Amino acid sequence: MLPLKEKDKPIVQKLLSAGCCARCILRFCCTRVQAAYRQPQQETLKELLAFISNTENSKSQDPAASESTGDNKSQDAAVSESTGDNKSHDAAEDPPSKRAKLDPNETKAGSEEEEEDAAAKSRVCVVCLGILQEFCDITQAVKIAEAVKAEKYEFDSLLLSVSLPAQLCVREHSCWLHVKKEVRDKGLVLDKDDIIPLKEAFKWVVQGLVSKGLGGVAVVTKGGLDVGVEFTHEATDADCHFLASVCPDCFKPAKNKQSVFTRMAVVKALEKISEANFLKHSPCPPTQTSSCCSLQGVQCLHVSLFIAGRYNKFCRSLPQTPWVIDGERRMESSVEELIAASVLSSFRAEGFNFSSSGREDVDVRTLGNGRPFAMELLNPHRTRLSRAEMKQLQETINESSDKIRVRDLQIVSRDAMSRMKEGEEEKTKSYTALVWTRKPIQRDDIIFIGDIKELTLDQKTPLRVLHRRALAVRQRVVHSMNARFLDPHHFHLELKTQAGTYIKEFVHGDFGRTKPNLCELLQTDTDILELDVESVDVDWPPAIPE
Ligand code: ZN
Repeated sequence: MLPLKEKDKPIVQKLLSAGCCARCILRFCCTRVQAAYRQPQQETLKELLAFISNTENSKSQDPAASESTGDNKSQDAAVSESTGDNKSHDAAEDPPSKRAKLDPNETKAGSEEEEEDAAAKSRVCVVCLGILQEFCDITQAVKIAEAVKAEKYEFDSLLLSVSLPAQLCVREHSCWLHVKKEVRDKGLVLDKDDIIPLKEAFKWVVQGLVSKGLGGVAVVTKGGLDVGVEFTHEATDADCHFLASVCPDCFKPAKNKQSVFTRMAVVKALEKISEANFLKHSPCPPTQTSSCCSLQGVQCLHVSLFIAGRYNKFCRSLPQTPWVIDGERRMESSVEELIAASVLSSFRAEGFNFSSSGREDVDVRTLGNGRPFAMELLNPHRTRLSRAEMKQLQETINESSDKIRVRDLQIVSRDAMSRMKEGEEEKTKSYTALVWTRKPIQRDDIIFIGDIKELTLDQKTPLRVLHRRALAVRQRVVHSMNARFLDPHHFHLELKTQAGTYIKEFVHGDFGRTKPNLCELLQTDTDILELDVESVDVDWPPAIPE
C-alpha cells in the first residue's frame, strides 16, 4: 500500500493527467517511504489509479468529474498500462529512440516481449523525462555496476551522484505551479522544498541495486567511490533559455563552464522569476516529449588517499618541485616527481598534490632522517596496499634514483596530514654549512661561535625570495652553533635553529638585511658554499622499523 493521504488525491489526479510517471507523483506527494519508489512502477501506477478511483466511485461515476481540463490522454494511456492492451497504438506512436539505453549497440529487435514492454512503459514522464521510468530497474543498475567493475577500483563503499539536465528544473517548477493552485484551493500548501528531489528518488531506487551488482558494497553519503551518472536530454536543452532574458544576472559566463545554463544558475533564476512571468514563457504543465533522457556515461572518482613518509635529497641540483621560469623548465627532475612516479603507478592514481614540512633550496641536500612529506593521491584505483607492499613500493622508489631516498612510507588519514603543518614554526631544524671567510680563522673564533646560544635574528625578507614573499622582518632564533675547522679560510658550521630561519642569509648577511649575521660576528666577509639539512625535528609520520 502506498503511504498516501486523502489530501494527496488532487495531486495524484492532476499529475496523472499531466503525464507524470508514478514515481514523480510520489515525489510530489512528498512521500519519503523509499520502498514505495523501489516497487515496480506499474504496481505503483495501479495503486495510484485505485487510490483516486476510490473517491471517484464514492463521489460519482461521471468521468467528467475526474479532470475538467479535458486532457485525459495520458490518463487513458495510464489505464492501458495496467490492462496491457492498446499496445500497438502506443508502439506506433512512440518512436523507438525514446527507449534510451546505456549501451547503444544493444537494441533487442522487436521481440514480442519487447513490444509489450514498450507499450507498458508508454509515455515519457513530463517531469523526469524518463529517468524514473527507464533507468530504475535492475538491468540498468547492472550496466552501471559493470561500468564500475571495468575500471577495476578497490573500494569499500560507494556513493551514487547524479547529474541532471538543467532544464528538468524548469519542468519541475512548472509541474509544481500546476498542482500548487489546486492544493491551495483545498486550503493546503505544497512547499517546493517538500517535494522529494528527483536525484534523491533516483538514488533510493538505484543505489541499492548498483551496490548489489557490485557484491553488496556499502552505500554511503560521503567518501568512498563516487559513481557519477550523467543524464542529458538534447531535444529540450533550449527549454531553460528564456530564463536568461528574464534574469540575466543569474547567467554570467564563467571560466571552465561550457554553458551558462548550469543547474545552479537555473535554480537561482527560478527562485527569482514571478509566477506570472514564468507562465508567460513556459507551458504549464510541461509538454510531452517523445524521447527519454540518455545516460551519457558512468564516471568513477575515488576519494583521495593520503600517504606520508620522509625523504632525503643527496643532490645539489635537484629542486623539490618542478622548477619552471617563464614557462621554461630548469632542471630535469624534482624530488616530488621522483617519488610520485612509482607511487602513482602503484596506486593507479591520476595525479597528486605534494606537501612537506618546509622545503630546501635546489642546491641544498637533506640528510639525516629526512624531511617529512605527504602526498594526496587523486582518484586512486588501488587503496589497500599491505605493509609489505608499501615496503616494496619504498624500495622501488629508492632503486629508481640515487638522488633521493624515502623512508617511513605509509598510508595516513587526511586529518593526520595536517599534523605535519601544525606548529611548524616552533619546530627546530639542524643544518651544516660549509663557510668561507676572508680573514684566516683563529682558534678563538671557533670557541666564540660555539659559545653563542639562543641568538635572535631579525631577518628582512631575503632579496632572492622577495619576488614571491611579502617584505617583512621576521624574528628567528639560532638555538646553538658549533664550528669545525677545515683550513684557515673554511670551516663547517653546525646550527640548530628555529624552523624558517634563512641560513644562507645569516651567513653572508644579505647586504645587512639579516642582523646580526656571521660577517658581523666574525668581523670579516663570510660566504656560504654548501648547505645540508641534517634534521627536521617533526615527529610525524611515525617511524616504521626497517
Ligand atoms: Zn517522472
